[in-house]
Amino acid sequence: MNEETNKKEISAIKGTKDILPQEARYWQVAEATARQIFELYGYRELRAPVIEPTELFEKGTGASSDIVTKEMYTFVDKGGRSITLRPEYTPSVVRAIIEHRLDLQPQPLRFYYIGPMFRYDKPQKGRYRQFHQIDIEVFGEKDPAVDAEIVEMAHHLLKKLGVEKVETLVNSVGCKKCRPAYGQALRQAARAVKDRLCPDCQRKAEINPLRIFDCKVETCREAAATFPLITEYLCEECRTHFEQFRSYLDFYGINYRIDPTLVRGLDYYTKTAFEIVTEHLGAQNAICGGGRYDDMVKEFGGPDLCGIGFAMGVERLLSVARITTPKESFVYIAYLGEEAKKKSLATAREWRQKGVECLVEFKDRNMKAHFSRANKIGADWVLIIGENELARGLFQLKDMNNSQQYEGTNEELLKIVKQKGKQDAST
Ligand code: AMP
Repeated sequence: MNEETNKKEISAIKGTKDILPQEARYWQVAEATARQIFELYGYRELRAPVIEPTELFEKGTGASSDIVTKEMYTFVDKGGRSITLRPEYTPSVVRAIIEHRLDLQPQPLRFYYIGPMFRYDKPQKGRYRQFHQIDIEVFGEKDPAVDAEIVEMAHHLLKKLGVEKVETLVNSVGCKKCRPAYGQALRQAARAVKDRLCPDCQRKAEINPLRIFDCKVETCREAAATFPLITEYLCEECRTHFEQFRSYLDFYGINYRIDPTLVRGLDYYTKTAFEIVTEHLGAQNAICGGGRYDDMVKEFGGPDLCGIGFAMGVERLLSVARITTPKESFVYIAYLGEEAKKKSLATAREWRQKGVECLVEFKDRNMKAHFSRANKIGADWVLIIGENELARGLFQLKDMNNSQQYEGTNEELLKIVKQKGKQDAST
């Protein structure tokens, strides 16, 4: 490596970003709120690896999906295996269920997970190559009431995080019985207007014409507007399921719009598909997407276990959420002299063990410099430990928010700090 390349700044990979401490506070609140709400509905966390065998997604996400054909981060590891950074979570959960025989546990199984996903997509506002999803899955529950319950749970979370002005779009994409006839009708319609479709959609017209509805190219959208709709082709079972799903949404008072072109980007959906969109996000307006996948576990060689779930994009969620982060209260310990420094370290250790955030800095400072530093970094309290204090066993504590000063023993002052912390937390 020559000196020039040595000096070159290394930056984060395109489409990824650092979440710095101030922003991370918002992530922590969003994640903690999601966990709390999901647990209230009986969901439990299931953590799967970030790397998986490539075939998991080829089989699960679907060989004709955009994710598999264009967007996967795939590499061969040192053992010659093809590995993929997961682009979505559902196939990992299905693999884990089969691998650990989780289907033998009482059903329905309810899981959640929060973590990064990877897609080699064109980066733009609201679309990243490493992004994060809040994901939930339910297995072994056929009742359309659960379809509505997960939509209600998503709304519960959005409301708790102050997300307003969302619209819920719903559709049924049919099942193995009714979708082939629809696919046939769609293929015919697509062939008839093939020359008006973009090259990508011309290919899709043959492989999976349903996918044309996802295309954003204007001529393809115009063409797709003339295509037959899935809702006209649903079999009795799918039609009834869709009606019941909607009646449960009505029961919850959730407004929705039926969008018969909502097919979602993945191959495995059956029956229910839904999306929650917001008007604030421009082109990338979907915050949450989900649906049913009743055949997936079986197709993976597992038991006949139906499934449903959703994934929420954390970056998009946070860009429209209104979150207040908890105020961080901390004590700056100001000391003078070597002996006082040791006392400061011991006090900080004790107070931290009792749940109080403390900071001791090691630069030699006089009292004035200590106070100006404490002020600069936003300390709520300054605990003063000087030789005088050491001799008397009494320390000074200053409340930086109102300049009130206290004198007392270690225990007395700790009590004041904790008491004030409690008051602040309850206001
Ligand atoms: P999907 O798995 O494609 O249904 O996506 C579910 C949710 O994840 C979407 O509604 C978005 O909020 C989010 N999402 C999907 N892809 C990206 C991406 N490339 N960057 C950021 N968020 C994304």
